[in-house]
Amino acid sequence: MLTAQRIPAFDDNYIWLLTRPGSLGVAIVDPGDAEPVIAAVEAGGFQPVAILITHHHWDHVGGVADLLSRYSVPVYGPARETTPHLTTPLQEGDRVELPALNASLRVMDVPGHTAGHIAYYCDGGPEQQPGLLFCGDTLFAGGCGRLFEGTAEQMHDSLSRIRFLPDNTRVYCAHEYTEANLGFARIAEPGNTALQHRQQKVREQRAAGQPTVPSQLGEEKATNPFLRFDEPELVRAAEGFAGRNLAPGAEVFGVVRHWKDTLD
Ligand code: ZN
Ligand code: FE
Repeated sequence: MLTAQRIPAFDDNYIWLLTRPGSLGVAIVDPGDAEPVIAAVEAGGFQPVAILITHHHWDHVGGVADLLSRYSVPVYGPARETTPHLTTPLQEGDRVELPALNASLRVMDVPGHTAGHIAYYCDGGPEQQPGLLFCGDTLFAGGCGRLFEGTAEQMHDSLSRIRFLPDNTRVYCAHEYTEANLGFARIAEPGNTALQHRQQKVREQRAAGQPTVPSQLGEEKATNPFLRFDEPELVRAAEGFAGRNLAPGAEVFGVVRHWKDTLD
């Protein structure tokens, strides 16, 4: 079964190594820094076969040049952004085939955080094993990325399409922001008991120094306000913040995103 190994980087980034137990090939997702990646590759005796980039921010691409001086691998990334050393530009519907890992990843266009942001999705196959989603700074555990280059409408559309993926999908986002995200989620949706339980669990994990990523998409659908733009309680809360009636969907999403920005 495909899985991903977490490589902490900087203060709160996660670089992911896509691996298949029993195989030495690995794909490196969003290497903002080369050094911890090289250490993990050497410790595991791995052989990198590809670098996968979700978007152009430095904390996701900063290690690409140094990794290429050591490993001769293709660099996949968004067609609509400028990525250093990109060899294979990708857009919606493209597939990344990684025979060394016996993996095939589907590319999704998920603009919003940046204008050309993409995500990589590997489905769970006929046995409906958990799929893997590498979504960079689009969907976070308990939150979503800020709108630096895209619009609320674009991000709403991107997250709506992610919401269609199966509940057992594992969400490999690129930052450990979960505890702070859930603090805001509780303000936006105080009556959500699944959210209360998740916040409690995440506080305990963080107090014990444990990561909270990957999360499960089903849990995100139940507790992440940025996937809940049509839930009546959240719509009412957003209307309370905005001081006017709002249409469920993109309008509510945009207000909730702005609401969180005012508190960060
Ligand atoms: Zn970013
Ligand atoms: Fe980032």
